[in-house]
Amino acid sequence: MKAVTVSIDRDRCKGCELCISFCPTGVLALSDRDFNASGYRPAVVVRPDACTGCAHCARMCPEAAISIAVLRPTTSMAR
Ligand code: SF4
Ligand code: SF4
Repeated sequence: MKAVTVSIDRDRCKGCELCISFCPTGVLALSDRDFNASGYRPAVVVRPDACTGCAHCARMCPEAAISIAVLRPTTSMAR
């Protein structure tokens, strides 16, 4: 099992929704409650557990606002 963290730089986001359109598992949405420093509704993570770490969103973002971190558990060295 792997843990994935999606980070969105809210002030780089222009609210274009490309990341939302290309996410196959519905992880992302535009914020319905606030605006960023440029006046856009930023993309936010709404279903973090559904993220597969595919990075489609990060590749599609024209503002390079998304980064993906995949954390794999270290293997145990128990004897
Ligand atoms: S990494 Fe893939 S599954 Fe996760 S938010 Fe981005 S597009 Fe969706
Ligand atoms: S693709 Fe980038 S700029 Fe567009 S909504 Fe997603 S994070 Fe914002």
